[in-house]
Amino acid sequence: MATVNIRRDVDDKFYRYKMPLLQTKIEGRGNGIKTVVPNMEDVARALNRPPTYPTKFFGYELGAQTSEANERYIVNGAHQADRLRELLDAFIDKFVLCPSCKNPETEIIISGKSGREDLTRDCKACGAQTPLDMRHKLITYIIKNPPKAKEKGTKKGKRGGMTAEANVGGPMVFDAATNGDDEDGPDTPPADNGVPTRGTDIDAALGRSDPILEDPDQAEVVSKKLSKLDVDDDDDDDADSPYSVLGAWLEDNKSAEDTEIIGKVKDLGIVGKHKVLVEVGHHLFTNSVATEVPKRTALLQVLCTSEKHQKSLLGGFERLLAYSPECDSLLSSGTTSKILMTLYQDDILDEEVVRNWGTHVSKKYVEKDKSKKVRKSAEAFLKWLDEADDESDDE
Ligand SMILES: [Zn+2]
Repeated sequence: MATVNIRRDVDDKFYRYKMPLLQTKIEGRGNGIKTVVPNMEDVARALNRPPTYPTKFFGYELGAQTSEANERYIVNGAHQADRLRELLDAFIDKFVLCPSCKNPETEIIISGKSGREDLTRDCKACGAQTPLDMRHKLITYIIKNPPKAKEKGTKKGKRGGMTAEANVGGPMVFDAATNGDDEDGPDTPPADNGVPTRGTDIDAALGRSDPILEDPDQAEVVSKKLSKLDVDDDDDDDADSPYSVLGAWLEDNKSAEDTEIIGKVKDLGIVGKHKVLVEVGHHLFTNSVATEVPKRTALLQVLCTSEKHQKSLLGGFERLLAYSPECDSLLSSGTTSKILMTLYQDDILDEEVVRNWGTHVSKKYVEKDKSKKVRKSAEAFLKWLDEADDESDDE
């Protein structure tokens, strides 16, 4: 069956949130004419809402009676599929999407005393809790028919092994190998499947478990590559280094066009260098970084060409957040998770790279305690990533 993006305004076939395209069937005639939505169950499941919510929403918006019998969801009157799809978009916008990060993985939470309830959307992605429009008629219906508690809870109970909580809440690993050279390692695929392997982190960081290094010839190639990289990149602390120049220029030109920035990188002769990303992450953005990053995704996609580039970008953002005079309020506002969500959804960061970053405190870019704080502030996103994974495993 045809699927569409839950956000139909997102024209990206790799957008990860899909739902079946809403189907309609007109039945009966005269006063008894009605529109059946045969796949309402499936659509609602994709939205993590009971199927009665969007059905009732259609009814309120169209001023029509609705009914449900034997899993058939019906709106009285003859309604065109396009019209109902538009109304579904409106429902998604009002009752599903997080207004803060536009992610659809939210839950409706009802709090407060009977008669004075408060309804909020609780976002699994960025952690934001945002109020629903209490004036909408659907609110009363939701209060009387609250979402079934914790279907997700049973899923969580079923899964074994390392849970999101264990990963995120557990002690973070201080990566002893992180003295500046591990991240300059070869561009080989990650040594594991993203499951943090405590105890063997140093091996993993050094890529020892990667078969490529067991082949002596290959190992030689890799080490030559490494030493070459060390030579090009050793000069980055120098104030005259092209990276420092780029950083200073970005500070002064935060509103530069993407093409100007690329031009500057070319002028400095550092096209393709991963350390460009450290400067971009650190100096191009301000305290409003969470809203600025979505406007720079095209630039970041162009610049971020390998895993190493991704790590450098994360390092740059770490510096930005940790050295901001408003560090504490930034870190407690969900900013880190919002940045990561944007970068992840726009295919700038790979899942494995973010996971490894999230579980490995490093003093490469900022002091160890700051590095730890920044990672802690990304908890909502990292947890969401684990849960999203578990759900696809279940299917
Ligand atoms: Zn959100």
